[in-house]
Amino acid sequence: MNVLVLGSGGREHALVWKLRESQLTDDIFCAPGNAGIAQVAECFPVDLSNPAAMLQLAEKVKADLTVVGPEAPLVAGVVDEFQRAGRRIVGPTKAAAQLEGSKIFAKEFMHRNAIPTARFAVVDDYETGLKFLKEFGLPVVIKADGLAAGKGVVVARTREEAEKALDNFMVQKSLGGAGDQVVMEECLVGEEVSFIVLAGNRGWLPLVATQDHKAVFDNDEGPNTGGMGAYSDDSILPESLRQQIVGTVIEPTLAGMAAEGMPFQGFLYCGLMLTEEGPKVLEYNVRMGDPETQPIMMRLRSDLCEMLTASLGGQLAALGARWSPNPSVCVVLASKGYPAKSETGKEISGIEASESLGGVKVFHAGTVFGNRRLLTSGGRVLGVTATGEDLPKAIEKAYTAVSKIHFDGMHYRRDIGAKGLRRLNTAQEIHHPDNQAGNPSPA
Ligand code: AMP
Repeated sequence: MNVLVLGSGGREHALVWKLRESQLTDDIFCAPGNAGIAQVAECFPVDLSNPAAMLQLAEKVKADLTVVGPEAPLVAGVVDEFQRAGRRIVGPTKAAAQLEGSKIFAKEFMHRNAIPTARFAVVDDYETGLKFLKEFGLPVVIKADGLAAGKGVVVARTREEAEKALDNFMVQKSLGGAGDQVVMEECLVGEEVSFIVLAGNRGWLPLVATQDHKAVFDNDEGPNTGGMGAYSDDSILPESLRQQIVGTVIEPTLAGMAAEGMPFQGFLYCGLMLTEEGPKVLEYNVRMGDPETQPIMMRLRSDLCEMLTASLGGQLAALGARWSPNPSVCVVLASKGYPAKSETGKEISGIEASESLGGVKVFHAGTVFGNRRLLTSGGRVLGVTATGEDLPKAIEKAYTAVSKIHFDGMHYRRDIGAKGLRRLNTAQEIHHPDNQAGNPSPA
């Protein structure tokens, strides 16, 4: 099969890398791709907001299967365009992609279908926003309705921050039309988890759970980014909690979308807060996460191409998926200035040394070749991804691999996976209470 992957980040590099391993793939193409992807797949420029242009490219390269990485082409209707032309593509239709394309749509959908989520109000103008602020108290979360590339959510701790967010989105129009309406919602407390499923036209399949690190600095400090790292470990979601999420979120979401005439196909990403009252949905994404895809693909043992084909053919649930029990960790290396304005054009060195450690894959995001040198070309540059037989070893391997890589101004978080380590330590203390000082040893 010829496969076309749409997108240009670390997520797409991980998908292409995994598809390369498949027995079913012949040629793999990517558009627009990046310097790392170009080493393993032929890349073409394409306008990701133009469904007709993407279809034209798929026809040109005779793609038997197309996979969509980012949300913009989905929200623009690329799947509808391909379906009309009878070309196979994995992803939701424009109608189903509203789960991500409109926060208001998503919240009202969850409300209609009794899917647990934060209490919310839809705000149509600045003045109404000020009124709702009194009702919600502080902290409060303010979200632009439309797509905003990770810049549309503010967790406001003070009234000034909340007013500023409303003003930025609704009066200054900092996000253009995406902030014409906003959602205001109660601030949830708990640990965040990403749970992604691949939904087929019959049945669905869970992927391994991950934890993302959105803030730019260690300890979740500083502004939010597209994601500074992620890890996957079975300890993130104990089986009982997983069952609860499936029963209260995944099944009602897929059933609700089908009942409302928008059956969901493709990757459904549920960003969840594990609150004291149980898991609640923070957001839906209608595609794989970036950087969550990188650690997920490191653990996938099944043939990705076979899984994607089965999702379209209706045999997905029967096929199932096999996973490595070993955890994986992805550390994102970012350019100076990111997430605000990033420096670019810096030479990158050390990738080979990093990968030669074994159990390490360096996925490219903002990279480009210039004068035969590998250069930075965006905010998030590389996703250094490693596996190990347990989480401490995977983390250590990832950071050893990071230490081999250099570009001017490079910065990264040093605590990717730390929440997982804390969880494991707590579990150990519970299992071995005699380790704690002052506890009598069992007789
Ligand atoms: P979203 O794009 O909706 O996932 O929001 C981005 C980030 O904002 C999430 O990953 C959370 O860290 C935070 N966030 C969003 N909604 C809430 C909420 N209701 N309570 C607390 N934090 C939130």
